Amino acid sequence: MSTLNLKAQQKLGQLMSQFGLASSLEETPLSNWIDGELTAGEGETIALTNPATGGALACYRDAGDALVARAVAAATQAQQAWMALTASERGRCMNSAVRMLEGHEESLAQLESVVAGKPIRDCRGEVGKVREMFEYYAGWCDKQHGEVIPVPTSHLNYVRHVPFGVVGQITPWNAPMFTCAWQLAPAIAAGNGVVLKPSELTPFSSVVIARLLERGGLPKGLINIVNGLGPTTGSALTGHDDISKLVFVGSPDSGRLIAEAGARRLVPSVLELGGKSANIVFADARIDEAVAGAQAAIFAAAGQSCVAGSRLLIQREIFDTVIERVARAASQIDVGLPDAEETRMGPLQNARQFERVTAMITRAEAAGARVVTGGKRPETLPEEASGYYLAPTLIAGVTPDMEIACEEVFGPVLVAIPFDDEEDAIRLANQTRFGLAGAVWTQDPARAHRIAGQLRAGTVWINSYKAINVMSPFGGFRDSGFGRSSGLDGLREYTVPQSVWVETAAEASVAMGYGDGKA
Ligand code: NAD
Repeated sequence: MSTLNLKAQQKLGQLMSQFGLASSLEETPLSNWIDGELTAGEGETIALTNPATGGALACYRDAGDALVARAVAAATQAQQAWMALTASERGRCMNSAVRMLEGHEESLAQLESVVAGKPIRDCRGEVGKVREMFEYYAGWCDKQHGEVIPVPTSHLNYVRHVPFGVVGQITPWNAPMFTCAWQLAPAIAAGNGVVLKPSELTPFSSVVIARLLERGGLPKGLINIVNGLGPTTGSALTGHDDISKLVFVGSPDSGRLIAEAGARRLVPSVLELGGKSANIVFADARIDEAVAGAQAAIFAAAGQSCVAGSRLLIQREIFDTVIERVARAASQIDVGLPDAEETRMGPLQNARQFERVTAMITRAEAAGARVVTGGKRPETLPEEASGYYLAPTLIAGVTPDMEIACEEVFGPVLVAIPFDDEEDAIRLANQTRFGLAGAVWTQDPARAHRIAGQLRAGTVWINSYKAINVMSPFGGFRDSGFGRSSGLDGLREYTVPQSVWVETAAEASVAMGYGDGKA
């Protein structure tokens, strides 16, 4: 085994023992957090691979049906205790719970970095987001006012926003801590109990977060984390009778299965899915900023970001200049080991993703596209870093109907396509089955707003990219999903409006049918 892989294994072992998940790598990790207890899985063994080396990292066991059932039962009971608190108490509790992360931030970031293969500085940023999301939604706990509706009868009609009960959440591997906190915080702020299943590829950080939050004062069993594969543990969760709402973050293919599972039981779902976002650069844009924005939009997180700006649409007269400059910027990105401070881009997370991305590049070339830069392993890497590395890749000679221009790659691969005018730019940008995000670079403010108004995308940036905050609603159109996360819209996904009618007339009378209110 390479020294690099051995070091990563030892580091993971130390972090897991620090967080109580295992005392050594030989032991089956306690990979679930159920009813306030760390619990080992009971199903088949799942092996984790080191994204930086491709070597073995750790193993754990799939949770399976019985543990999911135990988690749902715990959440059902805890949810009642949670709702027995006052709204202000729930808010205070969330605020104090998230403070338990203090002093553990660096270890959490290191844990995520070694398992997800993400640059350590990105993981530190993700830990910061966990705190931000809990603090934001803690503030909403005592501000979820209902409404009084001015009905045309003698009734007082008011609306309460009541929790679903227990919600099931499923998250992907590309931003495990971010997506975990992103959905946990509004769910409990709205008064629900939760069972969350992280990706089988990044199981541990969500368990650690849930455990720290409970130590910080959240009721035992309010948040439960179950780890395992989609078809086993994931299906047990989506098919459980006591789950009243499903929230899914992941690929469109799995999203369809989750929505179907919900529909069979008439349970609603929120789907936060993939994207193929257009980044539109007009000739009148400030080119330095547009180039910096274009490369950050796709190469951050090695392109494993749902909002990655993976289609660069460039006005024809500046096409050659922009692709030459983006290619130069791409080739200067520090691609390196996840734990190195200077690393700006790490490996892809797993072998399946690496094979998918490289096969798509090969097919694009076969279809006539041209790799301008990248397309292969970066030359600057140490030999031991034999994992799933791909250099930042720019592809030109692409037509809008090619697979590489239509399908989500979810890797550091940017396609550049020229356009002639505004109409052409909008047509190309919307020529996708996705609708998650998009951006426009121009110094003409009227044009910027015109374009923003015509993009079928849940988030649009003007002279910017990837500005995202928990305060502002986020979600997609079409194959990018439905429902919204973040902000008040995200909170409302976790409640149901309940309409209450109170007779205020001196003498109550109940009409037969749709009468005039008189008996
Ligand atoms: P994925 O769909 O393969 O897996 C996501 C989760 O679904 C995992 O936890 C997996 O175990 C689970 N799952 C799979 N099949 C299941 C089933 N039958 N029943 C229950 N659960 C099941 O996605 P991924 O490869 O982990 O993540 C990448 C995708 O996620 C990309 O498409 C990306 O764009 C998307 N994503 C979207 C957002 C967003 O906010 N829109 C954010 C991050 C990632």
